[in-house]
Amino acid sequence: MEKNILELKNISYSYHSLHGETKALDRVTFGVHEGEFVAVVGPSGCGKSTLLSIIAGLLPAEDGTILVNNPDGSLHYPRVGYMLQRDHLFEWRSIYKNVILGLEINHMLTPERLEYVEKLLRDYDLEKFRDKRPSELSGGMKQRAALIRTLALEPQLLLLDEPFSALDYQTRLMVSADICRLIRRTGKTVILITHDLSEAVSLADRIVVLSGRPATVKKEIPIHLSLQDDSPLAARNAPEFASYFNQLWEELKS
Ligand code: ADP
Ligand code: MG
Repeated sequence: MEKNILELKNISYSYHSLHGETKALDRVTFGVHEGEFVAVVGPSGCGKSTLLSIIAGLLPAEDGTILVNNPDGSLHYPRVGYMLQRDHLFEWRSIYKNVILGLEINHMLTPERLEYVEKLLRDYDLEKFRDKRPSELSGGMKQRAALIRTLALEPQLLLLDEPFSALDYQTRLMVSADICRLIRRTGKTVILITHDLSEAVSLADRIVVLSGRPATVKKEIPIHLSLQDDSPLAARNAPEFASYFNQLWEELKS
């Protein structure tokens, strides 16, 4: 039996403003196993980004708890890497200076980590672009640079908030396949927010479907595709793909 490394229990959250209260999350409950790839889907504005910010520790939950069960029995919160929808690269820094920014801020500029950054730059074909500015790169390349910046911190838990949505369709398929491969190879635990149902089915081990605002867990759908290879592009041709897609579509519609 796989163990949850994170368990969200009854997480609730409301925004308060002069205009009143907006309840964003209502007792959201689900668990995440070590090494698992969980996709979270839900209608626009339902509270997905709010949920991810809470998991990242950027927002305090108003109610509910997040339990940590590390496999080694330790109680520390997993090291989190958080990647937003937009790449948030800084134009006044070179690509290299951008990808080491997280290490710099976190006082983690060690020879080992810089070596790892070099490897990621090679793996992602960005080595030749290290001295360029973000505006000189394509959307896909910028997204890869943002991912390198996140991965350089060697997070145990990777939180991705619609990371591919700024990309055109073809680039998006390529980048998501890339990222998926990389993530699988390093055995990372991932929570991916997406509104793209095909993306969710092709990438995830399990999909958590949220209701409209305030978000609550409507359904959890484990995904099992029969595949020749492990790529998300192949996943789209799996015989089970369409029925998962339709099931999700029905859940979101109702
Ligand atoms: P999603 O990511 O699913 O599109 P969000 O988590 O960003 O949704 O937002 C959920 C709801 O909370 C939305 O109705 C949004 O307008 C509201 N909201 C988000 N951030 C704030 C904020 N800082 N102040 C007030 N309301 C907010
Ligand atoms: Mg959002």
